[in-house]
Amino acid sequence: MLSYEYLLSDIDSIKGIGSKTAKLFRKKNINTIFDLIWSLPRDLTDRTDEKKINELQIGKIQTVTVNVKKYNFPRIRNLPNKVLCEDETGKLDCVFFNSHEGYIRKILPLNKKIVISGKIGYFKKRYQITNPTHISVDSNSIKKIFSNYSLTEGINQKLYTKVIEKVLNNLPDLNEWLSNRVLKNFDYISWKKSVIQLHDPKNIKKKGNFLNRLIFDEILSTFLINSKIRKSIKKIKKTRKIFDTTEFDQIKRKLKFNLTRDQISTINEINNDLKSDQKMFRLLQGDVGSGKTIVALIACMNVISSNFQVSMMAPTEILANQHYRLAKELLGNKANIQLLTSKTSYKERIIILEDLKNNKIDLLIGTHSLFQEKIIYNNLGLVVIDEQHKFGVKQRKKLSDKGGKNCDVLVMSATPIPRTMVMTIFGDMDVSVIKNKPKNRKEIKTYSKINSKVNDVIKFTKEQIHKKNQIFWVCPLIEESKKVDHQSSIKRYESLKKIFGNRVGLIHGQLDDDERNFILLDFLNKKIDILVSTTVIEVGIDFPNANLIVIENANKFGLSQLHQLRGRVGRGDKESFCILMIKDSVSENARKRIKILKSSNDGFKISEEDMKLRGFGDLLGFKQSGIKNFRLADPVINEDLFIMAEKEMQIIENNNEDLKKYRTLLKLYDRADILNDVI
Ligand code: ADP
Ligand code: MG
Repeated sequence: MLSYEYLLSDIDSIKGIGSKTAKLFRKKNINTIFDLIWSLPRDLTDRTDEKKINELQIGKIQTVTVNVKKYNFPRIRNLPNKVLCEDETGKLDCVFFNSHEGYIRKILPLNKKIVISGKIGYFKKRYQITNPTHISVDSNSIKKIFSNYSLTEGINQKLYTKVIEKVLNNLPDLNEWLSNRVLKNFDYISWKKSVIQLHDPKNIKKKGNFLNRLIFDEILSTFLINSKIRKSIKKIKKTRKIFDTTEFDQIKRKLKFNLTRDQISTINEINNDLKSDQKMFRLLQGDVGSGKTIVALIACMNVISSNFQVSMMAPTEILANQHYRLAKELLGNKANIQLLTSKTSYKERIIILEDLKNNKIDLLIGTHSLFQEKIIYNNLGLVVIDEQHKFGVKQRKKLSDKGGKNCDVLVMSATPIPRTMVMTIFGDMDVSVIKNKPKNRKEIKTYSKINSKVNDVIKFTKEQIHKKNQIFWVCPLIEESKKVDHQSSIKRYESLKKIFGNRVGLIHGQLDDDERNFILLDFLNKKIDILVSTTVIEVGIDFPNANLIVIENANKFGLSQLHQLRGRVGRGDKESFCILMIKDSVSENARKRIKILKSSNDGFKISEEDMKLRGFGDLLGFKQSGIKNFRLADPVINEDLFIMAEKEMQIIENNNEDLKKYRTLLKLYDRADILNDVI
């Protein structure tokens, strides 16, 4: 047996764990011995505090040495068994509910000196310990610090501790996988020693080299997987795309604005990828409204002018439509651009598919469902995926494979997650970031208003309509679980209609796609002024004329969600506003969220704050990413270790190090469900 295989063996291979107990462990996602190592003690119980009976303090956990004097086993049901004990200073009762006489006689034999530890109670002028769990003739086995594990029902503390002890005694010596350049940061502590220290009750709340080393192992194993995927994609040699700046210059002339510095630098990064003989696999990350679409369209143009086809996918039909129109406007005279959605008629569809096969179409725009379909391209050179947060590592890899060897991949996301998270869940991709928004953007002024002041909000809305501006009015579902529960939005819609007449529209979850699109188009074409909606207004859609968003019950939303919603406005050069409506009394946490939002428009900063408030596990993107949640590492707290791991990865990659050395690490940590597909 290889040394690490012991760790990967099933939990029921531990002596003392039968199939029943194993089931309970499995319920807590503890399947192997390795899994068990990471379920750490929650806190400690100090049983070193020995007292005489007359010094006992009620409510505290204390230890006493007593003489067992007398049994009191009543023959009446529901009355507890009692054992009277004493020392030279006083008397103490041990009270047992549900314990057998025989058992009690065995653990507390008459006239013996026994050490007992437990929580001290007081009843009928007598000290007592109820259901004592720590009883022994040997004071050394009681007067200790005990770790408390988060137990699952049916697994008691004793069993758990025994099992952990067994595992720790059997930990194998593993061949070191970390390099000395890394290990010196952790005082050269080995994995085994680190795990033992991790479980030492003394270290329960302590940080140190042992913990940092283990956190580093977890991060490095994730990065190694990412690197493997990245490499396997980079290995594919593709035909270089050949284009010059002619098209780019022409598009620039058509724009009503100058591109920002970040837009230009990301365009350059993408161009370099397109021109190289390695397949592009790039994430374009930028906050809402940072101007990603134009960057993508320029990439499309360059690929088309080098005689390849392009496919562009958006999450919703409206957004696909919007991209289609913009593409027509900017590139229409140079390229054949088609839109394929569920609205496309059967006849048109056949023609489009045929033309695509015969290389008559240069750019096909559609929804993400294009990805699932069997569409045959003649010469696909680029796939652009817009606003895709739900694609995990596995799907991205599939996407890249599906396009064929000449197909570059550009994924766009508006989820502004901190760099440590990008490294983790998008580590298989190269990343371009648009940090600065266009200069004409003014900060979205954000206010909070108490519900009862709704008339002020309506007055403000009137002023905005007077200035020919448009308004989003968001009412969250009262209960998220009940998707049909949109009473609040209907009520608000009715009341606004009384004031603003038929220039108010409503969309909610029960409308079908057609009805919904119809109303959204009305809003886009300025036929209505106020759009009332439940929860989410389509991501990504550009409504440059909307400059006010009112969010009712804002305390019900998370920070990042509020920021995304707010990003629906402020896309043009008008001054824009966000009004967060709240009840009189909201939770401390909600108050914090609203305060952060009022003080910042920076999506990256907001998502970092969000992680601090909620913990990173909840953040959008992690769950679907295919990367497992960290057991120890925290992208906010351990930022330095993430950066250290990133540097180490660069050295490993630059030196082309043999990854055999990391086999044990990868096998044990198994960070991604894609592992077996890649190695
Ligand atoms: P997102 O990054 O959220 O996808 P979009 O690409 O939809 O953002 O751009 C939002 C708005 O900003 C659009 O109306 C677009 O025309 C405009 N825009 C893009 N780049 C610039 C720029 N450099 N200067 C001014 N406006 C810009
Ligand atoms: Mg967009």
